[in-house]
Amino acid sequence: MQSIRLGPVCRRVVLATVLAWWPGSRAIAQAPDNRTASALEDGVDPSIRPGDDFFAFANGAWLKRTPIPAGRDRWTARTEIGELTSGQVARLLDDAATAPRGSLARKVADFRAAYLNEGAIEARGLASLRPLLDSIGRVRDKAALTRLLARSVGADVDPLNWGVYRSAHILGLSVEPGIHGEKTYVPFLVQGGLGLPDREYYMSAEPRMQAVRARYEDHIARLLTLAGFDRTGERAKAVMALETALARGEASAEASASDHNADSLWTRADFATQAPGMNWSTFFAAAGLGHQASFVAWQPGALRSLAALVGSEPLETWKDYLRFHVVHAEADVLPREFAGEALAVQAAVSGHPVETTRPQRALEATQLALSDALGRMYAERYFPADQKKRVQGIVANVVAAFMQRVQTATWMSPETRALALTKLKTLYVGIGYPEHWQDYSDLVIDPQDAAGNLRRVERRNYRLAAARLGRPVDLTEWWMPPQRAGAILIFQQNAYDFSAALLQPPKYDPGASDAANYGAIGAVIGHDVSHFVDVLGAEYDTDGRLRHWWTPEEMTRFQALAQPLVDQFSAYHPFPDLAVNGKASETENVADLAGLTASFDAYRRTLGARAADPDYVRQQDRQFFIGYARSWRGKMTEPALRAQVTSDIHAPDRYRIATVRNLDAWYDAFDVRPGDQLYLAPGSRVKIW
Ligand SMILES: [Zn+2]
Repeated sequence: MQSIRLGPVCRRVVLATVLAWWPGSRAIAQAPDNRTASALEDGVDPSIRPGDDFFAFANGAWLKRTPIPAGRDRWTARTEIGELTSGQVARLLDDAATAPRGSLARKVADFRAAYLNEGAIEARGLASLRPLLDSIGRVRDKAALTRLLARSVGADVDPLNWGVYRSAHILGLSVEPGIHGEKTYVPFLVQGGLGLPDREYYMSAEPRMQAVRARYEDHIARLLTLAGFDRTGERAKAVMALETALARGEASAEASASDHNADSLWTRADFATQAPGMNWSTFFAAAGLGHQASFVAWQPGALRSLAALVGSEPLETWKDYLRFHVVHAEADVLPREFAGEALAVQAAVSGHPVETTRPQRALEATQLALSDALGRMYAERYFPADQKKRVQGIVANVVAAFMQRVQTATWMSPETRALALTKLKTLYVGIGYPEHWQDYSDLVIDPQDAAGNLRRVERRNYRLAAARLGRPVDLTEWWMPPQRAGAILIFQQNAYDFSAALLQPPKYDPGASDAANYGAIGAVIGHDVSHFVDVLGAEYDTDGRLRHWWTPEEMTRFQALAQPLVDQFSAYHPFPDLAVNGKASETENVADLAGLTASFDAYRRTLGARAADPDYVRQQDRQFFIGYARSWRGKMTEPALRAQVTSDIHAPDRYRIATVRNLDAWYDAFDVRPGDQLYLAPGSRVKIW
């Protein structure tokens, strides 16, 4: 049995496009439904037998009319929804430009307008950064340095929910629920302080990395020169040496990705004894954390090396380090020489040209800075209450159907079953958008001051994070913006959220029948809900504690039931020389089967009296399965598909769709017979839940 590594890759964001730019039993009766039955059936390819290739049959018309756009390696349901959402957000922002001054919409629009206003950026020069640069200049001793470092801690990390394990600031603070069922929020301190993406960039002997380091050192010198400092070559060398020393103390990305890092709880006394060199009392007081008795030291080594380096390195080196980072962090909203240099070094570090335009970067920066505000605007326009109500019905029915499956699962002991059912009964499912919105009335956005806006947003985020200390945990708190298409599983809150942006075709279609939507979003919901009680959820109990609650015997029995599905997937060959790795994709494939089965049960229970009409049932069943196949449609280039097969824990979409061959009803709905390529004899159809 493979060990279960809970990391961001396997459990967190199901469909989100993660930002990657450098510096998550009782059916509610529903009316008989004939909506868009013909439209769904119209899109199939009648020349293909559904039993031979259900993917190509169900997506026939779409596959014929949809090319992979130039310059891309794929076009899938994910990219479709991502593009659709970007357009919606851009329209929201355009419309907000004329909203009344002082309104939330106007703040959001002004933030973007300031980012785009290159004339104002040019005219302002470094004025917005001047007070900070001056305060660095006034530092005369290590105590003053410590206070300044403390004030540069950022709230830009999130180890447990999003797997953000490094800060662009000297350290990152996240205040979130812990992993031991704590009733109040826990502060997590996470490593940071590096200008390059990762410690490997400083440590690796590879020639490309050496070249990147040389270019980055040059970047430090260039920005300091542009900011008006002298002897910048010398200063850059010293700053680079300091960052390299910080990097040496940092944990690798892999070591950072374990939830067990949350067990590294340091009291204030531990900081003094474990990480000498810096006065931590001075640090915490200046950081506004003076009353906090303990912290999670997510990467203890990084705290040790930071404190030691504060003690050992010259004050002037630290001051230059801080000066450089102040300018570097906001270079894109400083005059064009700064912004140009920032893009050039970004291209050198990533190894490919930066193709984003200023409008794209402005949009992304606005999304990041005012995510909750934009989310509120997005939900109000694009996810009306009647749709939320309909999706709530689907969620309730799918969860209830899955609970019935848990009731009858043969491999579970009574104790394990009881715990699983409690988990499912108490699971919070957030649909579309959070229960509460932030109040932005204290935030000043100046349409003429892009750099100042960034700084004010950053400081506000930090204040809000610190203010949560000591407050009771809100188990319904969201960690997913409504306008980013995706879903997130939060085991430590026993909560599952999916965004309004995800609830769009082909994952959810307001115009489609219930049957088709159960096939699409219902199966996604069932998949994610099953994770709460499968090998992933088995690591967290009902109170959000990291505690394994399956017995070894249950693990063995579960594994034995899953083995035929492993074999089923391992037999798929996307290319003659390359097979799907059934073992690596096992957990996801088991969840797909769980989700599809539970959603099918749920949909069937909504048929009510019409369940006695075989023609109607057959027509609706076809919609359910076609809806499922549509929700995973996609095309990839050969290299992209090969990369997915070798490295992704999800099987390619075409094989995920083939999960239907394990459900008896699919055979009846599409007249699948022995001899068809996807045909499985009844005894070979896999049943786990
Ligand atoms: Zn999954």
